Amino acid sequence: MSEVVLSLQGLQTYYGKIHALRGITISVKQGQIVTLLGSNGAGKSTTLKTISGIVHASSGKVEFMGKDITTLAPHTIVEMGVIHVPEGRHIFKDLTVKENLELGSFTLKDEKERKRRLDRAFDRFPRLRERWKQMGGTLSGGEQQMLAIGRALMTEPKVLLLDEPSMGLAPVIVQEIGRIIKQLNEEGTTILLVEQNAKMALKLAHYGYVMDTGSIVMQDDSAKLRENESIVKAYLGG
Ligand code: ATP
Repeated sequence: MSEVVLSLQGLQTYYGKIHALRGITISVKQGQIVTLLGSNGAGKSTTLKTISGIVHASSGKVEFMGKDITTLAPHTIVEMGVIHVPEGRHIFKDLTVKENLELGSFTLKDEKERKRRLDRAFDRFPRLRERWKQMGGTLSGGEQQMLAIGRALMTEPKVLLLDEPSMGLAPVIVQEIGRIIKQLNEEGTTILLVEQNAKMALKLAHYGYVMDTGSIVMQDDSAKLRENESIVKAYLGG
């Protein structure tokens, strides 16, 4: 059996009085793509934020490779290899593409290694290579998403937390992002994917969880979820 790299156990998270996560239990195994589906406000983004330490759980536990990371600071969690690409991309609009990518490896002392990773990012995203001098803010939505993913990859993460990578993008770009996610996974990156685009998510993922108002209401292999009548009705336009 493959190793569980990320384990959430009974996570509860509040924003003031708002009880956003009401006991979330999720396992992500080495080499998997796991998707989190659910309607608006279900708590998907909060789950990712709780893993990456941007918000803290009031109870429950987050374990990464067997280590309790529940109360660690976000930068420590990043250094351990868990990288969050938030919804809305958050690239630096007034920095160039190259500078944005370099920020992803700012803790790296080894200049040669940084250059190697930069070349790798440009090989993976040729559009970014062509636009290396361009300001982040002038890129198209799809290119900004590639930049956000490229910057995350500069840290060579063990686990990538992707929040709505397809949001607001044209179908052909969504396909391209999907292809990139698949490729990253085939190269060994474990991925927890939050998506409104359930069709794409269930195609890419090995396993899926469905959230509703802060709880997990269903979980299964994604092939099974794709055939589940209530999932088809609610998320796949059936
Ligand atoms: P969406 O698909 O719309 O992004 P989501 O499933 O990611 O939704 P969350 O963003 O995790 O949902 O929100 C879960 C709940 O927590 C919602 O009720 C939301 O209004 C609330 N919430 C999220 N962020 C905050 C915040 N910073 N302050 C207060 N409440 C918040």
